[in-house]
Amino acid sequence: MTAETSSPAPNPGRRKLTLTTQIMLAMTLGIVVGVIFNNIQNEFINTNIVSGLFGMIGTMFVNGLKMLVVPLVFFSLLCGVTGIGDIRVLGRVGGKSFALYMFTTAIGIAAAIGVASVIGPGRGFDMRGVDTGGVEGEAAPSVWEVFAGIVPTNPIQAFASGEMLQIIFYTIIFGIAVLMLGARSRRFVQAAEYMNEVMMKIVAIVMMAAPIGVFALIAKTFTEQGIDLFKPVLAYVLTLTGTLFLHLFVTLMIILKLFSGLNPFIFMRKIRPAQLFAFSTASSNATIPVTLRSVTRRMGVDNSVASFGIPFGATINMDGTAIMQGVATVFLANVYGIDLGLGGYLTVIAMAVLASIGTAGVPGVGLVMLTMVLGQVGLPIEGIALILGVDRLMDMIRTAVNVTGDAVVTSIVAKTEGKMDMAVFNDPDAGADTEDLDIDEDAEEELASLAHTPAWS
Ligand code: ASP
Repeated sequence: MTAETSSPAPNPGRRKLTLTTQIMLAMTLGIVVGVIFNNIQNEFINTNIVSGLFGMIGTMFVNGLKMLVVPLVFFSLLCGVTGIGDIRVLGRVGGKSFALYMFTTAIGIAAAIGVASVIGPGRGFDMRGVDTGGVEGEAAPSVWEVFAGIVPTNPIQAFASGEMLQIIFYTIIFGIAVLMLGARSRRFVQAAEYMNEVMMKIVAIVMMAAPIGVFALIAKTFTEQGIDLFKPVLAYVLTLTGTLFLHLFVTLMIILKLFSGLNPFIFMRKIRPAQLFAFSTASSNATIPVTLRSVTRRMGVDNSVASFGIPFGATINMDGTAIMQGVATVFLANVYGIDLGLGGYLTVIAMAVLASIGTAGVPGVGLVMLTMVLGQVGLPIEGIALILGVDRLMDMIRTAVNVTGDAVVTSIVAKTEGKMDMAVFNDPDAGADTEDLDIDEDAEEELASLAHTPAWS
């Protein structure tokens, strides 16, 4: 490739939209198309275009993101551990992240129960005629079981099935062993850093497909989820959305400012791509590559903190999910006319915080975990059928909140550990969406010459 074709020289006639803008436009278009298709209700469109074409594109896109998660987490965390170089600092970063994750989730759900108790969604609701949908209850794992499960019996199996906590645990042990071998690990560490760079490039390549992928996902969801679905449980939807926004825009931003002094407005602008991906995919796990990229390249968080904090948060930190569980519990208690009392609500808080540790960041699992919370306070599990229909949209919003919580805590830890580059944080163009696709020209020439050199020379 010549210098002219590979240089990102701006074309003065046509200003290129940033990827974030393109994704937002795709999302809007997806909503419009989805609402139109939902109203038309045409058999051909629903089968071939929506379930067929949109379904295929959406699945390919989400799979593309998921295929990055395990190798990206492994290499970036490995580089993170070897980059920190001191096991005590590693322990401090881990401890701080864990404490902050639990703290933000507990605050979120406590506020949710408070708001929902005041607004009182579900009072006077008539349960007769509601299809209970055959939802089954989930048994609560004990704290001991949750912690025991962190140690994998077979790391290959953990990697193959994407068990994030086990992967994190194994990678940290692996990184510590690499550190202990000292100078002998130098070349290996260089190779791991190189692989981390390669993974980041693959993230950038997959993200090029984001506008079309996001369009397909959103159009499909809105075609399937008619507006009518919301009417019977409108009070629940509005209370939940309001509480999620309160946590997102007020609570988390106050916590960010108080604990780190970082500017919440800059933070919000820089985390937007990750929020959009989380909203479109409803999966914190699938969003890990984008969140990781947003906090490191756009905000200046050092990889040594981000590579641990983001996948750890995507696995154990679910502020939005806990908030949903709080509002849903109050809603269902009202529907069934059951008074949970202070003890009941405290149980809900404890259960939801615990559940968030064991909840994988994939679509819909928050609702399954809700059965566990309901069972614990003696509410009928069939009540879930009431909110099942609207859960997909609620899942999209709460996942955006979950991912924002991960980035807030990671930024606080990085700032307080002196692992944040403020020049990058304050630079509005840092990590601009297309920059990563540039080809390194020197490296390219070197590679080309290597290719023409016989291996034996
Ligand atoms: N979809 C959520 C997430 O990935 C989990 C849930 O609440 O269902 O973070």
